[in-house]
Amino acid sequence: MTSPPKPMAKANNISKMLTQVLGEERFPVQVDELALEYSHQCFANSPIDKVVGEELDSLDGLLKANKARSKWLILHNSATLSEGRQRFTIAHEFGHYLLHRDQQDLFECSDDDINRGDNNERDNETEANLFASTLLIPLKDFRRQVDGQTISFDLLGYCADRYGVSLTAAALRWITIAPKNAVLVVSRDNHMLWACSNETAFESGAFFATRKNTIELPQEALAHSPRLWKTSISEKTQAIRWFPREPASMPLTEMVKVAGNYDYTLTLLLMPNSEGHGAHHDNEAPPWKTPTSTLSATGNYPCDRLEMICDDRPQMAVCLPVSSSCVWLAF
Ligand SMILES: [Zn+2]
Repeated sequence: MTSPPKPMAKANNISKMLTQVLGEERFPVQVDELALEYSHQCFANSPIDKVVGEELDSLDGLLKANKARSKWLILHNSATLSEGRQRFTIAHEFGHYLLHRDQQDLFECSDDDINRGDNNERDNETEANLFASTLLIPLKDFRRQVDGQTISFDLLGYCADRYGVSLTAAALRWITIAPKNAVLVVSRDNHMLWACSNETAFESGAFFATRKNTIELPQEALAHSPRLWKTSISEKTQAIRWFPREPASMPLTEMVKVAGNYDYTLTLLLMPNSEGHGAHHDNEAPPWKTPTSTLSATGNYPCDRLEMICDDRPQMAVCLPVSSSCVWLAF
């Protein structure tokens, strides 16, 4: 087994400690209290002194040291972020504190940071996101909730509640461990906002390049001209509804849920694949971090692959090079 990226290892170590102290049923992570207590226990000379919600212009959150660097402050935007996003933002800033505070005194963070700045800045943002997602939705516990169960938005909703994250975040986490080809499509007004495929779906050509193209939902898609369903709906159909090049015999399960206070629609597409994922350890990187034939000569995934497989918003799901490989973020 290869070593997990440092942010994952740090988050998993804290998760183990929390489980030892609080037990298995310890969710959602009280990340504000955790950041205060952990930093005071481990770094008494320069702890996180306050975690405060405030209205922040164009920022999701920030981490700031005082002049003497003897105290750190986490601010998160309480005006615009949902509770799940606020939890993620605090975890993200806690990640900066643990991973990067030797580099600078101020971290100002927003959705777009991962697409801006120099390589080091982008890497730092990616690492903080990876830390946050690993801390809030530990894979070991997540597997325990979903393994052996038929996937549904009800089950994912249960997971979202358990971890205090959005339904989208729970769905993204699930497709990383799905035993099938799985694609999550987020749409509004009959057009895709973004989409994300898991590794096996991508390998089979089941992906949507929404960053470069405006893609309308198929006319027959359940999410096309959605009614305001109060519950999710599901239908077994043919893959060619979404992927015209698939054989007519290829089945597809389509699940739809209106989410975000009816602001957007989630569609989960499931298709059989030829080989399921093997079980992997909590510390292991996701499937597509494993070197495959799609790696370029330099060991990095080709850029177009990054854009296609991770065609989404930075804090929702990001696949970017970290130490010559890709990481998966569940927010
Ligand atoms: Zn940041």
